[in-house]
Amino acid sequence: MRKRIALLGSTGSIGVNALKVISSLSDKFEIIALSADSNIKALSGQARNFGPKVLCVRDAALAGKLKAIVPSGIGILNGSSGLEEIVSRRDVDIVIFAISGSSCITPLLRAIKNRKRIALANKESLVSAGAIVMPLARKYNVPIIPVDSEHSAIFQCLGSEKRPFLNKMYLTATGGPLLDIPKSRFDKYSRKFILKHPKWKMGSKISVDSATMMNKGLEVIEARWLFDIEEDKIDVLVHPEAAVHSMIELIDGTVFAQISLPDMRIPIQYAITYPARLCTEVEFLDFSKIKNLSFRKPDLNKFPCLRLARESLKRSGTYPAVLNAADGEAVNSYLKGKINFSRIPAVIEKVLEHHKRSPNEPSIGDIMGAESWAREETLRLCR
Ligand code: NDP
Ligand code: MG
Repeated sequence: MRKRIALLGSTGSIGVNALKVISSLSDKFEIIALSADSNIKALSGQARNFGPKVLCVRDAALAGKLKAIVPSGIGILNGSSGLEEIVSRRDVDIVIFAISGSSCITPLLRAIKNRKRIALANKESLVSAGAIVMPLARKYNVPIIPVDSEHSAIFQCLGSEKRPFLNKMYLTATGGPLLDIPKSRFDKYSRKFILKHPKWKMGSKISVDSATMMNKGLEVIEARWLFDIEEDKIDVLVHPEAAVHSMIELIDGTVFAQISLPDMRIPIQYAITYPARLCTEVEFLDFSKIKNLSFRKPDLNKFPCLRLARESLKRSGTYPAVLNAADGEAVNSYLKGKINFSRIPAVIEKVLEHHKRSPNEPSIGDIMGAESWAREETLRLCR
């Protein structure tokens, strides 16, 4: 029987790649549900191509408009309750979380409680609520298979047999479009330049995060929770060639790396076929064409977001959620032209300084409250 998939965030960069993977493996997987925030044009096109049973969009007004343009018989839901309904369906085996931002925390928790297999691209949910999400997944014995390329690389290298001997992990970073540009010139570059990542084609939020290197900071937090490892055992290495997607070092000094062309279809596919592997449509790496593989330490003065993320993780409680929300809002303000690029880390640092109350073991309510405060505070500072 084909595995039945709910793809949340199907109109985004990961979503579209996931649909490419699924259509190339249509004898093994079928789409039951798709969702978008507001892009009903793209969603209705996907619905015509993939024949889902149900769709979900942000609100009732958009749901009404969508209903008018999709084939009859497809159920139309909206909001977080719509996503929760999708992940509770008995005819869904795998949920791919390809939504951006932390709004999918509640559907993610619901999917775990319904014992769905989870392919997790969304990193913000683990950044803000990893301390709640991962223990719940362990309690329900639900596999959370990372889609984020670095974490997929580590997941592929690690396996349960090497876990007891793990000494350290190395998350690689391309360094983004500003890697070799002096900090004093950052604000001279256009948004178009910042959004054009040298190696990966991604959504706008994560592309800006790559330019500030907040993406790698968020990924350190993501790795901490996914692999239940201490922060000081997660190193970041700048590796502009983007061939080595991450590495693990064992206690005897042996290092395992996952190497492939930078194409998200590989980790997306592995997350839905794990532990099996299937052929992909992705080109194979030609080692004779790689002239150099280089690694260096990141420059924390130039990219303070990485430092801010580590500090938030050490302070724990609601600090990572505040970091996450402040970053989301600051990036949004930058994309709308309200602040310069170099203001992004400065604003996030101020919001973290202003955040005072942080329970040691915050509830989902505490996390959402902290995120909402951080968004307001960021907006105030961006005005
Ligand atoms: P995009 O911005 O391209 O797509 C986001 C998707 O989520 C779209 O379908 C969007 O709908 C939907 N969406 C956005 N906000 C909401 C919301 N509040 N509620 C419901 N749906 C929403 O993002 P990416 O595909 O680049 O990234 C998705 C996630 O995967 C992020 O967490 C990112 O960090 C992570 N990731 C992405 C990688 C990449 O290569 N792109 C690599 C590794 C991780 P609409 O189209 O209507 O706006
Ligand atoms: Mg990544």
